[in-house]
Amino acid sequence: MNGPKKLFVKSFGCQMNVYDSQRMADTLAPEGYVETASADDADLVILNTCHIREKAAEKVYSELGRVRRVKDAAAAAGRQVTIAVAGCVAQAEGAEIIRRAPAVDLVVGPQSYHRLPDLLARAARDGKAVDTDFPIDDKFNHLAAPDRTAIRSRGVSAFVTVQEGCDKFCTFCVVPYTRGAEISRPVNKIIVDVERLANAGVREITLIGQNVNAYHGDGPDGRPWSLARLLERVATLPGIDRLRYTTSHPCDMADDLIAAHRDLAALMPQLHLPVQSGADRILAAMNRRHTRADYLDIVERLRQARRDLALTSDFIVGFPGESEADFDETLSLVDEVGYSGAFSFKYSPRPGTPGADMDDQVAEEVKSGRLARLQDAIDKKQTAFNRNCAGRTFAVLFERDGRHPGQIVGRSPYLQPVQVTAPSSLIGQIAAVTVTEISSNSLFGVLAQNSQPQPIKPPALLGAGA
Ligand code: SF4
Repeated sequence: MNGPKKLFVKSFGCQMNVYDSQRMADTLAPEGYVETASADDADLVILNTCHIREKAAEKVYSELGRVRRVKDAAAAAGRQVTIAVAGCVAQAEGAEIIRRAPAVDLVVGPQSYHRLPDLLARAARDGKAVDTDFPIDDKFNHLAAPDRTAIRSRGVSAFVTVQEGCDKFCTFCVVPYTRGAEISRPVNKIIVDVERLANAGVREITLIGQNVNAYHGDGPDGRPWSLARLLERVATLPGIDRLRYTTSHPCDMADDLIAAHRDLAALMPQLHLPVQSGADRILAAMNRRHTRADYLDIVERLRQARRDLALTSDFIVGFPGESEADFDETLSLVDEVGYSGAFSFKYSPRPGTPGADMDDQVAEEVKSGRLARLQDAIDKKQTAFNRNCAGRTFAVLFERDGRHPGQIVGRSPYLQPVQVTAPSSLIGQIAAVTVTEISSNSLFGVLAQNSQPQPIKPPALLGAGA
């Protein structure tokens, strides 16, 4: 065998998938695989798919068409390429993927990544391999930890999975079916992971899970710990300066978690809190288990705990039965909360979910019109939020070189990218930056001399649509 085998993983969708892609690379490293940035020179291509968004499966099949051409070109040159499909589409479609795209050698669901080396051997031996089982034991026990080189190449900010799966069964969502019931990792195992990351130079940790604030992993005292308690413990680890967590469900915003936003200096003032709709009728049809008033009450309590908290969210427009009046309530919620950004999508039925069988599906052109209006409202709020940062000084954690020579890029406490002309030696460091300019998605700034970080004005006080 000449040299290491090359692995290309393409991630679709959420941060859980980005994290899972890294774990797959870690699992395959002892088998001699090193990551490459392009499918063209890869020996193994993994598409790590997401089933949440519109036409997800179709996008995977069209991507598979591209990868098949790479495989055919390699075969013509006498080189063998293996194609694997992982993630939620793999879980949902299983062997159907190989039937529709015969170039695929291997289909693996999110619960089985630790079995990748065996599955590759099985595919090499039998031609194909499919594993979409839900194991009885916890997959977290089997996943390989990244080595120091892998951690370094991934930068100073890292994700750590603390929880996976979901028991909420929102009527539009496939996660409870593809990722299974909610499980939380024990505190001790999370601490070991974070310590390894901190020792390799990571300074910011984002604790992730599909429903992260439902976390209830076993603590060292043998009792379940809440997410707030876990955050408090992680904040004590040397080297860790910044903490975040995502994605949260409003119903699991417990009092101690809200208080952590007041009491825990390392917890950054930014929170992604999906609401999906501003109308009670639609929230009930989505089985979100909270009302608009409940959500606004949580936002109010969070902002009392941390006045400058930047909130982001997810929205679905055109859920079955959504009237113009319901949609107006979503627009007014955006106005009332003053988000610093949000993801918004047209509803698209996921087979097997209750929403797919509901009457009153909304016409495509109505959905498109509403989505454009919602995105316009969100953009205005995001611009207002960013404008409010101009002239202020923030602590920025620098993550990587920028696109232009001499420029480096970091993140503000509010998670905005900040571009600064400064030496690369600052990557991995936190430095005070004064914001001089804003664009729609980024801030530009200069290193601040003798200047103390200043929090922004509370977002809730910003003018509507400014
Ligand atoms: S809370 Fe709802 S939207 Fe989020 S993962 Fe669970 S079922 Fe899906």
